[in-house]
Amino acid sequence: MTKQVPVKVDMEKIVSLCRRRGFIFPSSEIYGGLSSCWDYGPLGVELKRNIKQAWWRAVVQERDDMVGLDTSILMHPHVWEASGHLEGFTDPLVECQSCHRRWRVEELTDNKCSSCGGEVTEPRQFNLMFKTFMGPTEDSASVVYLRPETAQGIFVNFQNVLNTTRKRLPFGIAQTGKSFRNEITTGNFIFRSREFEQLEIEFFVKPGSDQEWFDYWLKERFNWYTRLGIKEKKLRLRQHPQDELAHYARECYDIDYLFPMGWSELEGVANRGDFDLVQHQKHSGKNLDYFDEETKEHIMPYVIEPSAGVDRSALAFLCDAYDEEPDNDEIRVLLHLHPDLAPIKVAVLPLSRKEPVVKLAKELYSDLRQCWMVNYDDAQSIGRRYRRQDEIGTPLCVTVDFQSLEDNQATIRERDSMNQIRVPIAELKKTLQAKLEGEDLFILPLGGSVWKE
Ligand code: ATP
Repeated sequence: MTKQVPVKVDMEKIVSLCRRRGFIFPSSEIYGGLSSCWDYGPLGVELKRNIKQAWWRAVVQERDDMVGLDTSILMHPHVWEASGHLEGFTDPLVECQSCHRRWRVEELTDNKCSSCGGEVTEPRQFNLMFKTFMGPTEDSASVVYLRPETAQGIFVNFQNVLNTTRKRLPFGIAQTGKSFRNEITTGNFIFRSREFEQLEIEFFVKPGSDQEWFDYWLKERFNWYTRLGIKEKKLRLRQHPQDELAHYARECYDIDYLFPMGWSELEGVANRGDFDLVQHQKHSGKNLDYFDEETKEHIMPYVIEPSAGVDRSALAFLCDAYDEEPDNDEIRVLLHLHPDLAPIKVAVLPLSRKEPVVKLAKELYSDLRQCWMVNYDDAQSIGRRYRRQDEIGTPLCVTVDFQSLEDNQATIRERDSMNQIRVPIAELKKTLQAKLEGEDLFILPLGGSVWKE
């Protein structure tokens, strides 16, 4: 039999892997699904948690000029008047006169329906905010909106944070949370959905230092993706030309990723000037300025906004990590996920189902679970078990056998290289920790050795 040649990553493969292994399912699947809503399965929820944690760590925990916030999804309707969303958060929509599919104008190249080639209607503006009612009456006085971005929750709390944290400019506020947009067209899996999770920073600076901070955040955010393993050649910066720039933005760049469907936005970084604070000051009647102790002046800070999405990041991390390698007559599918993002960090795989080996393996399993998400798998051959872990991106596997009962050693096998080392069980946790933090596999603890089968 000839060796199969590995094939390039495409969206179908990612969707199929996510479905098969429990990363992502269609929402309400038993009822036929709900368009463009997705449920994260046991592995997907871990991936998402890890992305959010890595982001929070980088932008809040490790910095002394940032704090976090968790604001509510439902907000006072005036917020959306002030922010401009009620009036301007619209996409021009056209409808095909033959098949009645709806499109965003920017999706069509020659003003013909991309599905059937039919004539389309004149564009009309479609507001992307989901509307609902608060309380028992469904009248206009009780209309509220599901937030289309988390940013406004930050702006309306600017003074609260200032007063309670004693932060001085420049400083930022970070928030992660769900946002909702009634997108006209969706698709490309979790790239564009109607309910999604954002990672947003509003970084407040003195006017005049905004350009410097804009450049800083653009670089910082770009590097966050590469530090977590995204290949640099798959990322690009795209500046918004003047006619694409939102009216409030002084400058904006997208960090694009080369997804299977082409270059698309992963994150936007914008210099929003003082637009938001000025608007909220005007509409709320509350003073939102900042007293500069040095110059004894009241100023309105400018804001730099790096705004990313958890779901789009997850998709980029999955696409970037996906790989296929020839493996005898088969193909080894693996995810080269960064250890910080891998849903499962370690798998414990006993090489026998006999009692003394299983007992030891279970002891290790329960001990290691105190530190990380750990899998235990004793079904089928060790080769198959390794493949199952490779496919979900587990960086390290630990095996124990009858010899372990005699020499108190276990084997660690690395996902990407498939190399193995043998280490004393007493050193196992420390060794796994070091490897997960990036230490070379062949740096051995006392009593350890390179394992050759
Ligand atoms: P697009 O041009 O793709 O519609 P946008 O420019 O409207 O995106 P922003 O308003 O800048 O997006 O939102 C910031 C981030 O939130 C995006 O970079 C993306 O990661 C995420 N995001 C926005 N809309 C969606 C969506 N419908 N589904 C998933 N993620 C989204």
